[in-house]
Amino acid sequence: FSDIVEEARLSARALLDYGEGFFNPTVRLGVTGLSRAGKTVFITALVHGLTRGGRFPVFEAYASGRIARAYLAPQPDDAVPRFAYENHVRTLIEERRWPSSTTDISELRLVIDYQRQNGADRMLTLDIVDYPGEWLLDLPLLNKSYEQWSGESLALSREALRAKLAAPWHAHLATLTPEGREDEQAALAEARLFTDYLRACRDDRFAMSLLPPGRFLMPGNLANTPALTFAPLDVPIDGGAPDGSLWAMMRRRYEAYKDVVVRPFFRDHFARLDRQIVLADALAAFNAGPEALHDLEAALAGILDCFRIGRSTILSALFRPRIDRILFAATKADHLHHQSHDRLEAVLRRIVAKAAERAEYAGAAIDVVALAAVRATREAQVQRGRDRLPSILGTPAAGEIANGDTFDGETEVATFPGDLPDNPEALFRGEFRGLSSAGADTADYRFLRFRPPKLERNGDAEPTLPHIRLDRALQFLIGDRLQ
Ligand code: GDP
Repeated sequence: FSDIVEEARLSARALLDYGEGFFNPTVRLGVTGLSRAGKTVFITALVHGLTRGGRFPVFEAYASGRIARAYLAPQPDDAVPRFAYENHVRTLIEERRWPSSTTDISELRLVIDYQRQNGADRMLTLDIVDYPGEWLLDLPLLNKSYEQWSGESLALSREALRAKLAAPWHAHLATLTPEGREDEQAALAEARLFTDYLRACRDDRFAMSLLPPGRFLMPGNLANTPALTFAPLDVPIDGGAPDGSLWAMMRRRYEAYKDVVVRPFFRDHFARLDRQIVLADALAAFNAGPEALHDLEAALAGILDCFRIGRSTILSALFRPRIDRILFAATKADHLHHQSHDRLEAVLRRIVAKAAERAEYAGAAIDVVALAAVRATREAQVQRGRDRLPSILGTPAAGEIANGDTFDGETEVATFPGDLPDNPEALFRGEFRGLSSAGADTADYRFLRFRPPKLERNGDAEPTLPHIRLDRALQFLIGDRLQ
């Protein structure tokens, strides 16, 4: 029955959206990706570029001068926070610091006045919806019982790399009797240790991606509620939880999590998107090794599966397939020399293809791009003995440490990131040792964070942000809607 109510609600919403879209063409663009993938920076740079005259040669409507202007309009959804665009721009440009990252859903409305190719003047409304990718990985939970989820989570946590990180949680788990009386303190301790384990997996050195429930790491406004205070128990998949037991308590909260968190997000936000960009920090995964890469692949398969679920609802069949374009983007490409950008794209393409196979995926057009929403580095050839090495120049953030040196945030350094292998398979077989600073006196620059670039002012004009292939992303995501 609840599914029927859900369908009715979704259909009513779709009708409203449809009516509005008829008079006022609107594209709802979802921007997602796991924590620190680059969502905040991407949206900030995209909006800044469109409203302040960025350089976008590959974005046809813009480059050919058919876009008269783009401007921000009041945020349309009353219950969703507005994306803090102005603050982020100030931080990025005036302070040359990276803005604070996405922790919750937020939204921004951009209006684009443009001329159609046939000469008619038109307006396109672009609603940009920023949300943590962790939340998307929760959707498969809707089809899983507590016992199934427990079994899967435990099996995963016993795999090679994860087992070590899970040791403190496993130790506590071993002291619990699922059939014993329900116990708030035990639940709190379990949830805390389980969350610590998830967080440890997300650490740079491991960079693992597949970690539902998403809100445990990105709680939004639900931190400390019972819906977030549960954890897996070692229970049989087909077992029944005795009344009043710890097991029953955990199961109840797991179901609450689905009701309070997962379903509303799917219904109110995800099901209403038209286009989607999924950002991934593939470089962090390369550097962490093949396990992290397989993990990223599994996470992308999980994400792709959500788009399939999204399309199989009655309403999408009745009206239109909602998400009809998905772009996967490897971010922070400015950490590589441009010779490697195509290789980065090739690796991501390989990961996405595999993920699509695993996700029984059918439907929307998919593309892949390697980009840097904000380019923090420049390229140069640096003389090393007899060789001229292709290198990148950037200013490491204050406090960054490499090879024992602590940077002051003002000094520019040259790094030699090394090349990605020609053949993506090498990465998956673990033959690739990670990006390095080959030739740079053994300093380890792999995880160095550069400050945002210093911008050149061109007379009185606002400075624009340099980027890599951001225009290609725009062309794929909305180019066809500006014909
Ligand atoms: P979010 O968690 O997905 O919102 O991630 P952010 O957009 O906050 O990005 C996380 C961090 O990645 C930033 O603080 C930057 O250090 C880095 N970053 C993101 N985008 C870029 C980029 O285009 N170039 C460089 N060099 N660093 C980036």
